[in-house]
Amino acid sequence: MIRSGQDYIAGLQAQAKKNVWIAGRKIDDVVADPHFKRPVATLAELYDLQCSPQHGVKMSAGGAGNEAYGLSFLIPHSTEDIFDRRNAMTVWANATFGMVGRSPDYCNTVLMSFEETGFFHQAGADFGSNLSKYYEYCRGNDLFLTHAIVNPQTDRSKTSAEQENPYAHLGIVNKNSEGLIVRGAKMLATHGPTADELIVYPLPGSVMPGEEKYALAFGIPTDTPGLKFICREPFDDGSMSPWDHPLGSRFEEPDAMVVFDDVLIPWERVFLHENVALANKLFTSASIQNNTGHQTAVRGLAKCRFMVGIAIAVSRSVKTDVFLHVQEQLGEILGFLQLLEGALSLSELKAEKTESGALRPAWPPLQSIRYHLPRMYERIVKVIQVIGAGGLLINPTREDLLSEIGPDIAAYYRGAGIDAESRIHLGKLAWDATGTQFGQRMLQYERYYAGDPVRVAATLYMRQNVDDLMAMVKRALSDNVMAV
Ligand SMILES: Cc1cc2nc3c(=O)[nH]c(=O)nc-3n(C[C@H](O)[C@H](O)[C@H](O)COP(=O)(O)OP(=O)(O)OC[C@H]3O[C@@H](n4cnc5c(N)ncnc54)[C@H](O)[C@@H]3O)c2cc1C
Repeated sequence: MIRSGQDYIAGLQAQAKKNVWIAGRKIDDVVADPHFKRPVATLAELYDLQCSPQHGVKMSAGGAGNEAYGLSFLIPHSTEDIFDRRNAMTVWANATFGMVGRSPDYCNTVLMSFEETGFFHQAGADFGSNLSKYYEYCRGNDLFLTHAIVNPQTDRSKTSAEQENPYAHLGIVNKNSEGLIVRGAKMLATHGPTADELIVYPLPGSVMPGEEKYALAFGIPTDTPGLKFICREPFDDGSMSPWDHPLGSRFEEPDAMVVFDDVLIPWERVFLHENVALANKLFTSASIQNNTGHQTAVRGLAKCRFMVGIAIAVSRSVKTDVFLHVQEQLGEILGFLQLLEGALSLSELKAEKTESGALRPAWPPLQSIRYHLPRMYERIVKVIQVIGAGGLLINPTREDLLSEIGPDIAAYYRGAGIDAESRIHLGKLAWDATGTQFGQRMLQYERYYAGDPVRVAATLYMRQNVDDLMAMVKRALSDNVMAV
């Protein structure tokens, strides 16, 4: 089935035992709580878009009625499938201007990749079939998954077993006939409290030989007993003005540390345990980087397009775009969009067959986007701030506009061919995108959502075949330089 927004909300309401902490309070009902109301409403709108034929894009696969499932669960077998995935993901990305990073299509894509490669069969037939059943369960019920795959920072110079508290990082405490008992913590579950299910799987190089108990992959409901979500301080308590904060009031994503107080992971939900070699191979062999790279590139492109639009609008609002050096900056960031779209299309053009007979977008262009997009994004943020200058920090509130000082505001805040109210509103959008708590989280998200950028680039070097480049160098040093 594909769920509507109301179906998603009803699913959250059914999870009465969820253990969520925010701003010093334990929340019983995330749907009703003012901190979560807006994030839930935004996600519900995405689910509604999935059911709405208005945008004319195919949003589901698998047939009609209960047979249908969200397109991001689709295992692509043809270029048409890849384009269908891209188009559906683009509808969701454009709906939130790319500001919702962990929309459901992200983790759906993770699960789809695991299923496509059959990776967990290597951990034993049962584990492979556990994953298949889990994929079918999440796909069949159109569940929203969050993921927490990073160990708490604690002491980064030490391995998991070397930490002062041996369960600072999530590890196995015990095993019994029902499953694994796990203790410790994982970060950073964006949308953890507002998701139906949580998946945990190992990052490459995160588990050291001899530290088997930290090698884990599983999926459980977010209301599993013993599971606790500790949210970061929220930016919006539900009262933020949409006029003054056009983005932060709509698109905040709750981030959370996930604490496991001796949580039972039933065997049927375990995909891998205590296999260090396999845990560290997951990212390179499960197509996960290809397919999630495709989703994040689509989302990132939508966001960069929006941000470049803001830069141009801000500049035009006071006609600084008549100056050559401003034109240069706008041209520079417009160029980013072409480069990103080009690399995204290249990944589709060079899609490759997998061992299972599926098709996946090529990895090198997507890994290049993973590394370069955060830098481009930082630059776009800077260009908006530099071009917007004091105009971004002079804007009063909506209340001021409606007060007795309204005529002063109308006289002195106008721009070039734009009235004061519209210019202030635009300035607020630009500051919300770049400078507010919301805007700064957006920046930090782009820097780190795909892991440590140092390792992202190093992986590109380590995994990419560079034989053709070496051959060119060799030819230049040979007697037969022109023999192409
Ligand atoms: C807004 C936001 C949302 C996120 N959402 C999610 C999510 O939904 N799910 C999820 O699982 N994760 C999520 N992440 C977490 C993200 O995956 C991590 O932030 C990322 O993997 C980097 O890890 P870290 O933050 O622990 O930084 P660290 O790994 O601690 O790195 C910090 C700095 O120290 C350096 N460093 C650390 N260790 C080493 C080392 N061993 N060798 C050399 N240098 C080192 C790094 O290069 C880096 O500069 C999110 C992050 C952010 C900021």
